[in-house]
Amino acid sequence: MAPNFLSQLTGSFAMPAAENPTVSMIEAAYRHHDLDWRYINCEVSPDALGDAVRGAKAMGWAGFNCSIPHKVAVIDHLDGLGQSAEIMGAVNTVVRRGHSLIGENTDGKGFVQAMREAIDPDGKSVVLFGAGGAARAVSVELALAGARTINIVNRSPARGGGLVGLLNERTPTSADLTVWDRTFAIPEGTDIVVNATSIGLFPDVDGRLDIDMASLTPGMVVADGIHNPPRTNLVRDAEARGCTVLDGLGMLVNQGVIAIKYWTDIDVDPSVMRRTVEELLYSH
Ligand code: NDP
Repeated sequence: MAPNFLSQLTGSFAMPAAENPTVSMIEAAYRHHDLDWRYINCEVSPDALGDAVRGAKAMGWAGFNCSIPHKVAVIDHLDGLGQSAEIMGAVNTVVRRGHSLIGENTDGKGFVQAMREAIDPDGKSVVLFGAGGAARAVSVELALAGARTINIVNRSPARGGGLVGLLNERTPTSADLTVWDRTFAIPEGTDIVVNATSIGLFPDVDGRLDIDMASLTPGMVVADGIHNPPRTNLVRDAEARGCTVLDGLGMLVNQGVIAIKYWTDIDVDPSVMRRTVEELLYSH
């Protein structure tokens, strides 16, 4: 569909504006639902971020995504924040509400939405590897979705401790830290295991979490945040151990579904978006 004066604009602000599966995935959803909307990839340097946000507002954009390095810095240029974005201190989706631009974070919401197809996190006990941006987004949303306990397992004690402090102070969950300096055995009774590190991410596809594989048991749901490649070693290993597995594509697709819902108020079909991303990733 060609853009015209009536097209609603959305997009992504990033630096550099690398090839981004989100663009194809969101435009595929707009086409599928016959929406006269566009999603435009914009390269925005850090010193131009304020101007870019004011430009989007002046042009009546319905919203935009922010990626690295803008997820934190954009907050200074917005009119308000949603609950989880405020707790995380990071925004990946900006939504126009009336005359205001409000920052939300759909990374963790997308993850939890994908997870609900296998298990409801409410009352569950979680082991989560990592303490970076993805881990922060996912753990805060799991906590807000009612996860009873979250054991953060991270190599760096400082980063891990910071996230545990945030979870305990700002959410109802009970979080604790394990410093990951040896092979980790998943405690018995764990319901959900999450990889929110970058281990296994393309091109280091041979990467493997240092876990005692025998501690993965069939009752566990094991979710990987890595979407490229979707079938990581963790996904394969957990599947072989009889666990229920969720790949990172669900998180990627659902964060887009939620962003489109924020912008258009329409529930789009996730399968159209997933197919588009799979075609992109598998055609490498
Ligand atoms: P960060 O750089 O902020 O954090 C990386 C995390 O991985 C840290 O906790 C780091 O530990 C840990 N880590 C990296 N290498 C190792 C290693 N060799 N051994 C142990 N721990 C390691 O990255 P992000 O949080 O932004 O992103 C992490 C992953 O999440 C990315 O690969 C990305 O693909 C994925 N992601 C997926 C999304 C999706 O939609 N599916 C959305 C956002 C992210 P330490 O603190 O010790 O350095």
